Amino acid sequence: MSINLKSLIPVLKAEWIGSDTDIFVDHISIDSRSLQNGSKTLFFALSGVNNDAHLYIPELIENGVQNFVVQYIPENCSGKANFLVVKNPLDALQEFAGYYRDLFDFPIIGLTGSNGKTIVKEWLNFLLSPDYNIIRSPKSYNSQVGVPLSVIAINGKHNLGIFEAGISTVNEMVNLEKIIKPTIGVLTNIGSAHDEGFQNLEQKINEKLLLFKQSEVIIYQKNEIVDLCLKEFLKDNDSAERQLFSWSFTDNSADVFILKKENKNDTTIIQYKYKGETFSLEIPFSDSASIENAVSCLLVLLYFMYDFGTIQNRMQMLYPVRMRLEVKNGINNCSIIDDSYSSDFQSLKIALDFLESQNKKNASKTIILSDIVQSGFSNEELYTKVAQLIADNKVNRVIAIGTTISSFAAKFSNCITFQNTTEFITQIESLNFNNETILIKGARSFQFEQIVSLLEEKTHETVLEINMDSISHNLNYYKSKLSDDVKIMVMVKAFGYGNGGLEITKLLEHHKVDYLGVAFADEGISLKNGGIKLPIMVLNPESTSFPSIIQYQLEPEIYSIKGLNAFLKIAREKNLKDFPIHIKLDTGMHRLGFEEHNLNELIETLKGNSSVKVKSVLSHLATSDEVKHFDFVLSQINLFDQLSSKLISALNINPIRHILNTSGISNFPNAQFNMVRLGIGLYGVSNDPAEQKYLENVGTLKSIISQVRTIPNGDSVGYGRRFMAEKETRIATIPIGYADGISRLWGNQVGFVVIKNQKASIVGSVCMDMLMVDVSHIDCKEGDSVIIFGESPTVIEMAEALKTIPYEIMTSISQRVKRVFFR
Ligand SMILES: *Cc1c(COP(=O)(O)O)cnc(C)c1O
Repeated sequence: MSINLKSLIPVLKAEWIGSDTDIFVDHISIDSRSLQNGSKTLFFALSGVNNDAHLYIPELIENGVQNFVVQYIPENCSGKANFLVVKNPLDALQEFAGYYRDLFDFPIIGLTGSNGKTIVKEWLNFLLSPDYNIIRSPKSYNSQVGVPLSVIAINGKHNLGIFEAGISTVNEMVNLEKIIKPTIGVLTNIGSAHDEGFQNLEQKINEKLLLFKQSEVIIYQKNEIVDLCLKEFLKDNDSAERQLFSWSFTDNSADVFILKKENKNDTTIIQYKYKGETFSLEIPFSDSASIENAVSCLLVLLYFMYDFGTIQNRMQMLYPVRMRLEVKNGINNCSIIDDSYSSDFQSLKIALDFLESQNKKNASKTIILSDIVQSGFSNEELYTKVAQLIADNKVNRVIAIGTTISSFAAKFSNCITFQNTTEFITQIESLNFNNETILIKGARSFQFEQIVSLLEEKTHETVLEINMDSISHNLNYYKSKLSDDVKIMVMVKAFGYGNGGLEITKLLEHHKVDYLGVAFADEGISLKNGGIKLPIMVLNPESTSFPSIIQYQLEPEIYSIKGLNAFLKIAREKNLKDFPIHIKLDTGMHRLGFEEHNLNELIETLKGNSSVKVKSVLSHLATSDEVKHFDFVLSQINLFDQLSSKLISALNINPIRHILNTSGISNFPNAQFNMVRLGIGLYGVSNDPAEQKYLENVGTLKSIISQVRTIPNGDSVGYGRRFMAEKETRIATIPIGYADGISRLWGNQVGFVVIKNQKASIVGSVCMDMLMVDVSHIDCKEGDSVIIFGESPTVIEMAEALKTIPYEIMTSISQRVKRVFFR
């Protein structure tokens, strides 16, 4: 891509404020953190409700970015870069993508539906790639932002596109249609669930069909309701050219009628009737979602007029699709980003951005990369671009595996080559992986999963998965409740409520929260050591930790005259000036803080003292979620207002005032003062059921089945023989126990785990490292995945059954449980 910026002025309806000469860009970015941003980048400053990309522009200019699409020119930036000023940068990005799409004229498959879009897209890419140079949406880039970014990656060498479009409410598809303009439409599984954002199923289907406005064919699963919606759709979007191409398990008037599905172990034989003839093919899956997705692919292949033999050959090689990039702990203090199933240029760009965002301070960056199988470029062009991209991303060493990439090794700096994966594996020891963040990215045929398993740290199979996108979502939800200018402190004490301290904090820093709160100095020190620059308040500083608090620039909460004097003594010894402290007032919690009768002494001690500066005055609510105590809360808020005002006027200072925690934010919007302290809500838990539905689940505790056995009627399970089988019973053992933080109260048929979407009751007592469940009704085997908590059961449900609160369950998960972060 090389685009003359000025040619975009009419397309984006922009005002040009910048250089008089012609300027060309070849890269579009919306991510301020990407190391791929450079002088040829056009940066679209997208502003969410709570995250304004305009704030990053000064930094970006400093780093060499010169061209911006903005809503306004940020302070002190005019004259320093070129600006296309538009009404709304997101609309402009979409306009641009639509304009760019029109520069190309080849078939484009557009996928929409409620389930299966990404899988069908990946499978179609696999099935069609022997014959086409395909451009497809990376991962599940199917949103209002993801779709334009996907389409912008098209280049002149492509001759087929596959893009997915996802919507969550009405009026969204119109925008996506204009960008993708699919010539071939595929409606994947539509689901029967009542989605929020739509009044009913019909409305949802009607909206999705809008993607196919200009398609020459619509491929779909026939059923009454879709047929009705299609009829309406065709009335409004009449086109003589348009073909409907349907399939069904039940309706033999469909173009492709599935006569039979026969499961054999983990494969399925699908028998279908098409144009009067009967065929059968085998796919390596047995679950119903995979079968539906495979049939959607089958119809596309039939539409492309592939012969039966080719269809059969390719379909039997379908494989499970990984939906996301995963970070795993590696050997010798390495981190591993596992992208072992894909290799194309576009996904490499995304993976490198992810590598940067995950790289720990002082760790070096390594990429293990296979031959890139499809791209549309000549090898010379392709590997030149790849090498440039890797250099831009400041990757320290490159390990190239494959004959083609090896022959271009000279283009890469610090590159070691191997002809194939086996050769690499035999020499893996000599490569001394140590303290590196390693991106492992390879085409399927290279079987890089073998490399991942060798480099992965071997611990037990229980992991707590943390969804970083949900954290962003929840943060934005609470931010949206704040009045203008109210700051936000996020509580990351106790290892981010058990979810992971540094990783989450890095994300919060990106979101530009104002403050962090930890309980003890040690927690703050480890964040500072991890490179966190945000100010950090320490709630419970012990006087022995004051020297390290000062050394690490942490900010102590001071809650007593004794503590204040001890801190002032050290502050004077060290000649500190205006060292930030936070004054805690006790307004009714009766835990820590100055009381009303201490106030005069506090004022006297602080008056005229220049070694410390009161950055904030705070108090903590004893309750904020129980209506019966709301009068008490109001009295706390009043007392806080009164005491803090007195302090402020006596000392003539202007500190930040704050009292609200998560439930306080929800229930007392008038008491935000200058800042709020968000805790549990960030991690996806609200104390208010009505609010819970706006939050996304963050942590999922997962394990696997270690062993399955069948015991006869009358046998017992576990210590103390507390479960007695009353019939023949299948028992699965899961390697997680009370030492991992699973309460023993959750055993003995009180609690359950979820296996293959079904509940399995915990039988017998929870052991230290294991527990046993009844799986008589579940078709499962050793190695199958087990969910302990997450979407179901939620920690809230668990807490209710255990007569405790979600806070305790979350923070009890032992540090020996590996945390895995993903987006
Ligand atoms: C933990 C804590 C919070 C956050 O409370 P949540 O209920 O998790 O929002 C706020 N302020 C103080 C002083 C805390 O200790």
